[in-house]
Amino acid sequence: HLDRIAEVDGGLGAFLHVAGEQALVSAKEVDSALAAGEAPASPLAGVPLALKDIFTTTDMPTTCASKVLENWVAPYDATLTSKLRAAGIPILGKTNLDEFAMGSSTENSAYGPTRNPWDVSRVPGGSGGGSAAALASRQAPLAIGTDTGGSIRQPAALTATVGTKPTYGTVSRFGLVACASSLDQGGPCGRTVLDTALLHEVIAGHDPRDSTSIDAPVRPVVAAAREGAGGNLRGVKVGVVKELHSDSYQPGVLSSFDAAVAQLTELGAEVVEVSCPNFEYALAAYYLILPSEVSSNLARFDAMRYGLRIDEGDMSADQVMAATRAAGFGPEVKRRIMIGTYALSAGYYDAYYGQALKVRTLISRDFDRAYEQVDVLVSPTSPFTAWKLGEKVGDPLAMYLSDLCTLPTNLAGHCAMSVPSGLSADDGLPVGLQIMAPALADERLYRVGAAFE
Ligand code: GLN
Repeated sequence: HLDRIAEVDGGLGAFLHVAGEQALVSAKEVDSALAAGEAPASPLAGVPLALKDIFTTTDMPTTCASKVLENWVAPYDATLTSKLRAAGIPILGKTNLDEFAMGSSTENSAYGPTRNPWDVSRVPGGSGGGSAAALASRQAPLAIGTDTGGSIRQPAALTATVGTKPTYGTVSRFGLVACASSLDQGGPCGRTVLDTALLHEVIAGHDPRDSTSIDAPVRPVVAAAREGAGGNLRGVKVGVVKELHSDSYQPGVLSSFDAAVAQLTELGAEVVEVSCPNFEYALAAYYLILPSEVSSNLARFDAMRYGLRIDEGDMSADQVMAATRAAGFGPEVKRRIMIGTYALSAGYYDAYYGQALKVRTLISRDFDRAYEQVDVLVSPTSPFTAWKLGEKVGDPLAMYLSDLCTLPTNLAGHCAMSVPSGLSADDGLPVGLQIMAPALADERLYRVGAAFE
């Protein structure tokens, strides 16, 4: 894999940092343990992985694709990083992302964009475009992403790979640099549903160092993927979300989705249409809640504690802070800090942030009603296939629309997966099927995903 990275990543930009020798050392440790007759630390021992550069690692920089954290090396490993190491999974390097995971195309990286291996003039999706491109170009067989509004699932869809956003609170956020804490969730990415399930079981689990971590057993996702691989979905009820199927989506995406629904029916699933009327407001609510949390979380980059510090000698503390943040943050991060600061200010709080929280509750209720009727919900993962680099950078609203189908799951704290659903008839590019399930029912995603793939 290191050879493959050296060969192809110059043209793709999936990695911000390649571990090199360090990855070989971890791989050799696994070899020696096996040679000494020890049982493998996990079913994935020795299988290398690409880690999104937003999880802390003591032996590599953690930049979050921001100038504010250029060359910063964390003093501790994220819980997820420690779990990977304990499972004997060598880390190949850290992958590119939109700065602090804000974006849908990986063009908001301070270190240059990642390109889609299917067509290098196109984006790989975002914010986890680096992890998805590394998988699709066979630079890594496994990867880790984070999903705050779709950043695992949408890049998976645009690159024909698999990605899961686990139930909120089931994968530790300790050492995951915060974007929006009530939405952020780390998750597994792979090229098959079973690989993704194996990784899911490695990274999930209660962590007392994350105050929102759920103290519940890890869901049996590997067994579910194996069961699903038999291709029998009899007894499974699938709901097609009416509000996540619109004439404004790309025709090739809609026809791929319709074919996917027909396939689920052939596999024995009972498919019905369900309505979630408040999903229509998910985008508006998300783009108030997320910036509000961002404006608070990113206050820590104050030029005193981490990374970049611009101090021309005669500056006051306030001036150092302002100069550092002005130079260190990119335009999308600044836009969200400003929107969030505004939405949280006295006099506007109730009108914006308070309203958005009410909508969030209504969306959860829509889901609850839907899951009284069905086991899983399905929709396209993204309304369109991969677009050209530069096409949407000047139009943030057009960029935000690519998250239309993925956002409701994050607002409700539920789980969802994207699995490849063939190539679009209009442009030959990958399309993803999104499967959604209630909180703590992640195994349903794997059963249906493995049957479908
Ligand atoms: N694209 C969405 C955003 O820009 C989601 C990002 C994410 O999931 N990290 O906020």
